[in-house]
Amino acid sequence: MAEYDYDVLIIGAGPGGYVAAIRAAQLGLKVACAESRETLGGTCLNVGCIPSKAMLHASEYFDAAANGSMAKMGVEVTPKLNLGAMHGQRLDAVKQLTGGIEFLFKKNKVDWKKGHATFVDAHTVKVGEETVTAKDVVIATGSSVTPLPGVEVDNAKGVVVDSTGALELAAVPKTMVVIGGGVIGLELGSVWRRLGAEVTCVEFLDQILPGMDEDIRKEANRVFKKQGIKFKLGTKVTGCTVKGKKATLTLEPAKGGETETLEADCVLVSIGRRPNTDGLGLDAIGLETNQRGQIEVDHEFRTKVDGVRAIGDCIPGPMLAHKAEDEGIAVAEWIAGQVGIVNHDVIPSVVYTWPEIAGVGMTEAAAKEAGHEVKVGKFPMLANSRAKTNHEPDGSVKIIADAETDRVLGVWCIASVAGTMIAEAALAMEFGATSEDIAYTCHAHPTHSEAIKEAAMAVRGKAIHT
Ligand code: FAD
Ligand code: NAD
Repeated sequence: MAEYDYDVLIIGAGPGGYVAAIRAAQLGLKVACAESRETLGGTCLNVGCIPSKAMLHASEYFDAAANGSMAKMGVEVTPKLNLGAMHGQRLDAVKQLTGGIEFLFKKNKVDWKKGHATFVDAHTVKVGEETVTAKDVVIATGSSVTPLPGVEVDNAKGVVVDSTGALELAAVPKTMVVIGGGVIGLELGSVWRRLGAEVTCVEFLDQILPGMDEDIRKEANRVFKKQGIKFKLGTKVTGCTVKGKKATLTLEPAKGGETETLEADCVLVSIGRRPNTDGLGLDAIGLETNQRGQIEVDHEFRTKVDGVRAIGDCIPGPMLAHKAEDEGIAVAEWIAGQVGIVNHDVIPSVVYTWPEIAGVGMTEAAAKEAGHEVKVGKFPMLANSRAKTNHEPDGSVKIIADAETDRVLGVWCIASVAGTMIAEAALAMEFGATSEDIAYTCHAHPTHSEAIKEAAMAVRGKAIHT
């Protein structure tokens, strides 16, 4: 009789966990995956990437009709919002995709153990009432919204909400305050701004989108302001009271000073996410988290406890679905005795606003801090023929290369399709490309991607169209 019920038990069926489970099964291992949600797919498919993109995509159509950009192209329409139908198509996307993972589990013979998992020991986990043993256990429990003290979220009431509540508001609020000018604040703030809300974003730091390149952050701020989002930078929210359907926030300059109040019909709390490591029974296996609540791992995703590995949002690194997925593939390959590699220096990130904002690799400041002398090439989307023809004047591409070797260190862009464009940059960096390699690669015309070629040419002072 086998010593364990399974070769591998994965805890959590988000993009990290479900991908790890499928890959491990493909490699011939007997796999179970514990998930406490009613549906598979984790944050990403249920309340994250997918539903937010469904609302962003649909609201983009509404905005294009309402703000005159369609009329500019000779299509005159007066849009009428059917919010119920918009939510319906969001829910449909979620249902289809989460159902798709259930189908893939069955196809690959991954057993879904429904329920909350808690460690008994390193090879034994209780899932609901059932006890499951496995030779290897992978923690892929993801993350949850970081609460803001003094600002209590109540998604059911719909006045103070987190990202999950903001996806499903029953009506367009007249005024909305977004706390945090990060990815969620700007994406979901954009959705409701497009549908008619007056949106104010309160950000603690002096600029939005921390972690992105400084030039791109400034340009993004200009673009969002032009679209009508108001910003209160260098400001923190210190309290919130709700009376009926109105919230009143207390604001204070981040560096101290006079307080002010701000009223809103809806407040979105989007100040970050924290790893899900509580209630997992980590004490039972003697595993401690770091100060940020994350589980530390080595490059094979092994924790300090033999037989227990971890991936995705619950370990250090950017909280991104594609990072979790790649770690899921790699961890399964390590467990199966293969080598699983994730290049954490080349993880693209995309903000799916209009235009999109994307980057991969180092910012200019980070490159300099790491000791590189850099050469920078920039190209405005205004000078890109396709963007110009499509009436998309905003945005630019910035390439940062090492001055001596010309190796590309980072690429940043704002463009309608920046999320698609950045894949080329990631691939180039993965292959150790120089800016010259990109500049001498033939790019189809007319495409937005030509702006990447031109920015690469600009690194060496040779852009054609500026
Ligand atoms: P998760 O997706 O969080 O999955 C973990 C799963 O584990 C959950 O389903 C949870 O129920 C389960 N679980 C936890 N503890 C237990 C337990 N003890 N027992 C059983 N089950 C348990 N990222 C992108 O790359 N692109 C985007 O466009 C994007 N948009 C986002 C939009 C929003 C609104 C949000 C909130 C996030 C977004 N993200 C996006 C981030 C992305 O969702 C996460 O990085 C990704 O889901 C992390 O994957 P994961 O597998 O580590 O964890
Ligand atoms: P974030 O870390 O992107 O942004 C949070 C922002 O809130 C920061 O700018 C921070 O300075 C600010 N902040 C913190 N405390 C504050 C306070 N008290 N008052 C005002 N501002 C404050 O976090 P998020 O937007 O909540 O997103 C969480 C995670 O989800 C991110 O790590 C992101 O990677 C992931 N996500 C990714 C995507 C995507 O890839 N498109 C979309 C949504 C979410």
